[in-house]
Amino acid sequence: MSAERILVLTGGIGGAKLCLGLQRILPPAALLIAVNTGDDFEHLGLHISPDIDTTVYTLGAIANPDLGWGRRDETWSFMRALQSLGGETWFQLGDGDLAMHVERTRRLAAGEGLSAITRDLAARLGVRAQIAPMSDQPVRTIVSTPEGNIGFQDYFVRLRCAPVVTALTFRGAEAAEVSEPIAQALRGPGLRAIVIAPSNPYLSVDPILAIPPMKSLLLASSVPVVAVTPIIGAEAVKGPTAKIMRELGISPSPLAIVEHYRGLIQGFVLDSRDAHLAQRIDMPVQLCDTLMRTIEDRERVAAAVLELVAALEGRSSAPAPEVL
Ligand code: GDP
Repeated sequence: MSAERILVLTGGIGGAKLCLGLQRILPPAALLIAVNTGDDFEHLGLHISPDIDTTVYTLGAIANPDLGWGRRDETWSFMRALQSLGGETWFQLGDGDLAMHVERTRRLAAGEGLSAITRDLAARLGVRAQIAPMSDQPVRTIVSTPEGNIGFQDYFVRLRCAPVVTALTFRGAEAAEVSEPIAQALRGPGLRAIVIAPSNPYLSVDPILAIPPMKSLLLASSVPVVAVTPIIGAEAVKGPTAKIMRELGISPSPLAIVEHYRGLIQGFVLDSRDAHLAQRIDMPVQLCDTLMRTIEDRERVAAAVLELVAALEGRSSAPAPEVL
């Protein structure tokens, strides 16, 4: 088999944008996506996997463009009925989205693994890429704050990221195994490159890297590993990445992201607005306008990633890569 598969490590919204761009420019079957499940939680008796669902909905072209999460053309009868019963409504679940959680929970209870369920549901929703959880075992992101430890969704949704973050831990990661599709790809001959998406490094990528065999497999892999900046200037495009960095005593900058992934990555996609920082990055840098608003933007960033990979492979690719 020729080495043509690209493995992306990703969280939800930011990372899914890049995955969509890659899905659109890569041949079918060339894209494998390892999704963070540290955000998963049990709510109303259901197993909810927010980052898997965002990735599936985005790649299946059914994501809600206004909310940034959930499904398009969604209805909210369940939520209204739940509210009238005095139920918990802080975590919004649209009717179509709810069906996903009900079906996933049913199949998990019947003994199927999260990888197999995800693969099947994604295929049913028309996703061409292969999407897999980072692990089939539970890993839960715990946010430490001055008021104590809280679960990720309590922090992110219920408290809207307001608490100061003093530390992040990934409960269960030490004992978790890498999911079979991801482990096979990392061990097998078909892999061309590993890409760390522009996701929150602390909340979305670190839970993936916290699984010891995942880290070992990534470090042992001989293919290029590159990251796309989630920071432009000193700010995140959205979400609490820069806020968390400041709270953890890290000055938000693309340079801090390169430091964060040091030892793992061999190349970095830097936003063209930050071109002046390129000379301070001691590895190949690909400059690109990384702000992804339109479909064309997503394809452009995906193409920049592949340019950087080609440059790291020592291949020449046309047009000439803008590697500094
Ligand atoms: P995540 O993928 O689940 O971590 O989802 P978020 O949407 O919360 O994004 C996390 C990180 O991705 C943040 O640091 C954002 O700045 C970054 N991000 C989101 N959209 C973009 C984008 O269009 N371009 C770049 N370069 N980063 C982005």
